[in-house]
Amino acid sequence: MIQPVNCGQEHAKNVGVLLIAGYSQRSLNRSMHMTDSALQTFSIFNDRPGPEFIDGWRQHIADTGEPEKYPGVSTTKPAKSANVVLLSDEIRVPTAMRPGGDKVPCPLCSPSTGKFGTGRMAYFPDDSATRFIGHDCAKRYLGTNYTEAERLFRIEAQCAAFIQLWPKLQAALPQLNPIVQSLYVVGKILSQLRLYIDAQATGFARTFHGDLVAIGSRVVTSRDQGAKSYDIRGLEFLSKDFNPESDVEKLMNVCRDILSPLPSWQINEGDSPASREIIKRGRAAARRLRGISELRNQIEEAAQFLDPINLNLLEQWRSSGNSPFTVIRFKREGDRIDGVVESYAGRFEWSVVYQRDLLATLPTKEEIAALSVMEIFG
Ligand SMILES: [Zn+2]
Repeated sequence: MIQPVNCGQEHAKNVGVLLIAGYSQRSLNRSMHMTDSALQTFSIFNDRPGPEFIDGWRQHIADTGEPEKYPGVSTTKPAKSANVVLLSDEIRVPTAMRPGGDKVPCPLCSPSTGKFGTGRMAYFPDDSATRFIGHDCAKRYLGTNYTEAERLFRIEAQCAAFIQLWPKLQAALPQLNPIVQSLYVVGKILSQLRLYIDAQATGFARTFHGDLVAIGSRVVTSRDQGAKSYDIRGLEFLSKDFNPESDVEKLMNVCRDILSPLPSWQINEGDSPASREIIKRGRAAARRLRGISELRNQIEEAAQFLDPINLNLLEQWRSSGNSPFTVIRFKREGDRIDGVVESYAGRFEWSVVYQRDLLATLPTKEEIAALSVMEIFG
């Protein structure tokens, strides 16, 4: 099937042909004398093949549905529990394109007859060969070597993806930074307001939040039959872990970190310090940038707690006699709010200044949606 070719001819463009040119006479002889003439071993890869070979192989599979016929790919069985390096994720082979529409033979369990439709590209360093293997039986046939190869493949795939992503994130920073800065200004004010309330009225946030959440955050402000109930907004402002300042700071840390390049990295370095650094920084960036929209909405919603309409509803709830509270009063004078709340949990008094136009500087949903990082992480 494979004709030896001379080096230095104009086949240089074809990577597969180039590889066969380097394929030793020893392995050529072996393959020519195999009893099953259809099966061949090409011991031509002293090291794992590079991206040109893998991309060409992938294209060949898409074009022909015959992964095992790509030049240089072996079809023989590797040794049981052979060492293996996975070169691709699971690839669904277009088997309808194969002559007769057969399934793909699996070198591990069924080298001569059709066996599977989804498999993986693999490199076998013990016999310097590449094979396309059925992903289901590989674990059984190759044992812990396959489990380890999968672990390393996931590391490689993540590192490669983050390395490719990094320049795009860097390019997005000039657009991102002012948005994050605006989020920070509003988030910091809300965190401080909550801190002031906690300092003046320890236990208020916890008990009030608990009482309102227990009734589904809805209150009835009249004793009339069939009286309407109203949503209390922004209870998140009183929740235990409400701290948008700290959340935006983590986002800012990520933006600063994106400025520094990722460490240099080779695909074959496995579970190295560089790999670990890339995955750690990449994941942190992905997590925080994916969360921007939610963080923005959380800040907007939490600020609604201090909105006059919301505070009025709570006062009316108390005065209608529908609440378990003896006092709920939010006296407002200009931007100042003086809160007094009394129930079985005790009497709480606090006073804060809340600028009603606080949200005017919050980035809009549209501004967030227009960020290029939203396209990346959409
Ligand atoms: Zn198999």
